[in-house]
Amino acid sequence: MKNRAVFLDRDGVINELVYHPEFGIIDSPLNPEELKIIDGVPEAIKKLNELGFKVVIVSNQPAIAKGKTTMELFNKIREKMKQELKRAGAIIDSEYYCFHHPEAKLPEYRVNCNCRKPKPGLLLKAAKELNIDLSKSYMIGDGLTDIIAGKLAGCKTILIGKLKCDICKLMDELDARPNFIAKNLTEAVEIIINNEINNEKTYKPLKY
Ligand SMILES: [Mg+2]
Ligand SMILES: [Zn+2]
Repeated sequence: MKNRAVFLDRDGVINELVYHPEFGIIDSPLNPEELKIIDGVPEAIKKLNELGFKVVIVSNQPAIAKGKTTMELFNKIREKMKQELKRAGAIIDSEYYCFHHPEAKLPEYRVNCNCRKPKPGLLLKAAKELNIDLSKSYMIGDGLTDIIAGKLAGCKTILIGKLKCDICKLMDELDARPNFIAKNLTEAVEIIINNEINNEKTYKPLKY
């Protein structure tokens, strides 16, 4: 039997985004000190572990390509994230990152790749390597690029964001309408649980 996965975007889903008011930009954490796990995330991931989903991070990380951080610091951030989650009993089964950027400062990363979301490359690679049934899997992210990648891979999609229709027009223009919207990962996991129960109801034969 194939595995089912919940694919998680990292920044804005697992950890807080970092706002740099002096530059007017919202960015990934660029060093371990800037990494802050969002409240409730370890518990939510633990629940996904218990439900039998593979929990897989799929994330664009162009900061190294742009010269804003180093692979060494990036790996320290990864380790800190996984340790903090593990302390709460939450396990990340696998991680897939795209380090490319079409306008990268560092030439080795200046690639028009197939893995940078909204392209579905990271999900397709994970599906192959981890024997995942994409049609029974979910993609959760806080960006429309996550939703597009999830849809292109054939997953159900959950957008993390506030319930304002600022992006509704954009969702339609980009063909990026998610199946669900949740305010955080905790709520997204509740949606998955409810959706699974409802699907089961549909398929269960009626008993008299
Ligand atoms: Mg994000
Ligand atoms: Zn890539």
